[in-house]
Amino acid sequence: MRIQPAVDRRNILRLATSVAGMSALPRWAWAGSTLRHNPFGLGVASGDPTSDGMVLWTRLLPAEPGAAAGPLTVRWEVADDERFLRIVQRGTATALPELAHSVHVELAGLAPDRWYHYRFLHGDAVSPTGRTRTAPAAGQMPGRLRLAFASCQNWEHGHYAAWHHLVQDAPDLVLFLGDYIYEYTSPADTSGLARVQTLRHATTLADFRDRYALYKSDPQLQAAHAACPWGVVWDDHEVQNDYAGANGRGDDPAAFLALRSAAWQAFYEHMPLRAASLGAGHLGTQGLALHRRLAWGQLAHIHLLDMRQHRDVQACRRPAARSAGAVRPEDCTTLAAPSRSLLGTAQERWLDAGLAQDARQQARWSVLAQTTLFSPRAYPSGLRATDTWDGYPAARQRLLQSIAGHAPRNTVVLGGDIHQNYVCRVPADAERPDAPTLASEFCGTSISSRSGTTQDKVDAVARHNPHVLLARCEERGYGLADITPARWTTTLRALDDPLRADSGARTLARFVVEDGRPGPVPLM
Ligand code: FE
Ligand code: CA
Repeated sequence: MRIQPAVDRRNILRLATSVAGMSALPRWAWAGSTLRHNPFGLGVASGDPTSDGMVLWTRLLPAEPGAAAGPLTVRWEVADDERFLRIVQRGTATALPELAHSVHVELAGLAPDRWYHYRFLHGDAVSPTGRTRTAPAAGQMPGRLRLAFASCQNWEHGHYAAWHHLVQDAPDLVLFLGDYIYEYTSPADTSGLARVQTLRHATTLADFRDRYALYKSDPQLQAAHAACPWGVVWDDHEVQNDYAGANGRGDDPAAFLALRSAAWQAFYEHMPLRAASLGAGHLGTQGLALHRRLAWGQLAHIHLLDMRQHRDVQACRRPAARSAGAVRPEDCTTLAAPSRSLLGTAQERWLDAGLAQDARQQARWSVLAQTTLFSPRAYPSGLRATDTWDGYPAARQRLLQSIAGHAPRNTVVLGGDIHQNYVCRVPADAERPDAPTLASEFCGTSISSRSGTTQDKVDAVARHNPHVLLARCEERGYGLADITPARWTTTLRALDDPLRADSGARTLARFVVEDGRPGPVPLM
C-alpha cells in the first residue's frame, strides 16, 4: 500500500489573487438531499488517465454559504472493489480555501488497463463512490477503446438526460470539448426553457464558483463524472462568449483580464486537472497549461487542444460586438493573414511535434480533441464564420500540411461548439473541398445548448459543401467512438426530448472509418 503525502501547495497558494465574496448561490444548493450537511454535494470526478494513475477530484462545500473555513484535510481511498474491502492506495490531501476547498489527488503506481473505485472522507462524511480506470501501457495495442465526446451544456436549454444515457453506454473515457458552463443570467422570457437559475452574470471568482456549483449540483452530470475518467478542455463560455486570448468585451482590458483569470481559476478548481496545469501559478499572465496528450497504448493518441487562450482576435471583429460574427473574405483582408493563429505559435509547434511522434511511434489513431468545427463550411451567402477554423484559414492550412507531412496512420478530428452534428471528410486543402481526403471529422452536437439555426439552412450549407456528409442542428446528445485497431465507429446519440430529465435516447447515425482509409463512411 502506498501512502501519498499531502501535496506541497505553496506554489498554488500564490494563486489566491482574489478573495471570494459572499456566495450568491441559493441556500438549497448546499442542503443536499438530507438535513445533515453533506460536504460532498458536488460529487466526485477523475481525469487524465495514464497507464499507472489519474487525477481524483472533489470539492468540499462549507456548511453555510459564505462560511469561513481554513484548510481542510480530506482522506481518499482507491480500491479494487466497490465495497472498499481491497484498498490499494489511500492518503490525505489538503483542501485549501484559496482554491475553493477543491481537491486534486494525482495517483501513480496503479496497474495498467484496469478499473478502480475511489472515494473521499472528511469527518464522518463519505463522498459518493467514483469509478475510474488506467490506460493500457505504452507500446501495447489494446483491442478496443470506447470514447464518448460531448460539449455545451447550457443549464436553461435542457436537462442532462444525455449524461444518463452516456453512462448506460459505459465509455472508458469522456472527452469534454468545451462550454461546461454558460456565464449568462437566465433569460426573462422563460418559455421553452427546461429550467432557470437566479445567479448573476458571472464576472468574479465567487460568481464562477457558484456557477460551477450550480451545474455540478445536477445528479446526471455527477453520475457521468463518477462513471469513468474525463479529459476536459474549455471553450469560450467558461469565461465569456467568443473571447479570444486577452480580447474580451468592454472597454477596460484590465477588467477583462481580471475576469478571465478568475474564470480560469474556477475552471481549475472544478475540473480533474493536474496541479502542473497551473504552471508557475500566475493565471493572469501565464494562464492555465491546458493542451496536453492522453495515450491509450498504441491504439489512440489524443491531443487535447486549447482553442481560446492563445488565439488571435477574430478577423474584422468590431470591438463592441457581443459575438465574433461572419465576414465576406473579400471584405476582410485580415482573415487570410498568414501570421494569424488559432492555437498560438507554441501550441502549433507542440501539435506538429506530437503528430510527428505519433507517426514515429506508429500510433494507430491520432485524435485531435479540439473544440469547434475544423472542416471548411462555406455559407451559400458567401459569408465565413470567424470564430471557427474558417476564421483562421492560414492556421488551418498549416495544420493540414502538418498532418499530410508527418502522415500519422489515421487522423480523426473531434469537436463541439456549434451545437450541431457535422460529419465530414477533411480535405487535404481546405480551399479545395474536392482535394483528396486527409482525415475524418466528427463535430458533436451539444448536451443541451440550442443551435440557433434551422435544418433548412443547415441542409443548404451541406449541399454547398460536398465534403460534409451529415449536418443536423435539431438534436441534442453526444457521440460515442468505438475504436479498434481495424476500424473506428462513431455512433451519434440523440435525445428524444432535451426538456425532460427522463428523456429517452436513440441512435441518429453511425459512421465507420477503416484503418488506412481516411473519411467516414455511413453505416446503413
Ligand atoms: Fe456552446
Ligand atoms: Ca462555444
